[in-house]
Amino acid sequence: MRIGVLGAGQLGRMLALAGYPLAKTFVFYDMSGSPSAGLGEVIIDRDGQYLDDFLSRVDRVTYEFEHLPVEVAEKIAAHKPVHPCPRALQVCQNREAEKTLFGQLGIPTPEWKIADSAAALKAAAEELGCPVVAKSNTEGYDGKGQAVLKSPEDAEAAWDSIGHPRLIVEKFVDFHREVSIIAVRAEDGDLAFYPMAENTHHEGILRYSIAPAPKLERHIQEDAERYIKALLNELDYVGVLTLELFETSEGLVANEMAPRVHNSGHWSIEGAMTSQFENHIRAVSGHPLGNVAPRGLSCMINIIGEHGDIERILELPYAHVHLYNKGERPGRKLGHVNILADSYEELVWRVKNCAQFLPGSPEFKSSLTAKG
Ligand code: AMP
Repeated sequence: MRIGVLGAGQLGRMLALAGYPLAKTFVFYDMSGSPSAGLGEVIIDRDGQYLDDFLSRVDRVTYEFEHLPVEVAEKIAAHKPVHPCPRALQVCQNREAEKTLFGQLGIPTPEWKIADSAAALKAAAEELGCPVVAKSNTEGYDGKGQAVLKSPEDAEAAWDSIGHPRLIVEKFVDFHREVSIIAVRAEDGDLAFYPMAENTHHEGILRYSIAPAPKLERHIQEDAERYIKALLNELDYVGVLTLELFETSEGLVANEMAPRVHNSGHWSIEGAMTSQFENHIRAVSGHPLGNVAPRGLSCMINIIGEHGDIERILELPYAHVHLYNKGERPGRKLGHVNILADSYEELVWRVKNCAQFLPGSPEFKSSLTAKG
């Protein structure tokens, strides 16, 4: 089976790495002009001239990034099976549509309002009560196009700095930690849920993911499974879906979803019986799902901006290095290291030991390292 992937970055690369053992072949369709998948056939098409050519070479289509025009996904869906469905893309590209769907499905969100002017932003901040987070309604990712307002008086400056005609304004969530759940749905509707991950960000970029999330109460995992199941079934979704959440004293609050394999699931390559990548390929190819049980405890460390001393990391007996074959640039995701351990104590020691060889890495902070 030939799988067409829209997008040709590291997620596509890891999908292909997981798909080759199942005898899948891959064709990537790149609209950015700078593909990095480095595997399979890549069609670079900045002007949409070669879409028919791409379609003639594949049996099924999936995607590895969600900022893809919905019209392109719909056009493709008229010719070849596309998983996940274009509606999932549409929802994820628009924070208002996403939060509205969460609300309809009973998934808790921060209280929110829409603002289409600086005056409306000020009014929303007054009504919700500061602090609030203002985000561009479309085209935002990794914390870009966002501003925190400490007072309604900040509205004018925030509006100008974001520079977008429509914003979603959310009440600032007082969370203990950020977590995510990754689930996969097969063509026949079968479902599997990975254990949740605890995620640490620095300057808007994910740095560390620990899975299973430490000290996670059973009912929290069950709530997250219920929420993501509602989304998967509502969207008649096939493939891997990620839901990012805040854990608060009142339970989980949803932030956003991603209709694809996710950085907070990279631990699953060595840390689960079947990785998120293999399960996505299984689902979109119409196969049964694989076992999602963890193999011990994992922490994923992102390699951001510079590679650091990879040779030293390769010497560590508990570290698994994954490089994306990309050039160094500040803030760029260049690879990740998966660390495995049998206890959280051992995991913390190993993560710190590894992170010292990644000079760009912020200090390892998590619920495991928090005092008190
Ligand atoms: P997003 O682009 O929506 O994922 O937001 C990026 C980051 O901003 C999140 O990972 C959080 O750390 C923070 N953030 C976003 N929305 C909120 C909110 N309503 N309350 C508190 N922090 C937020």
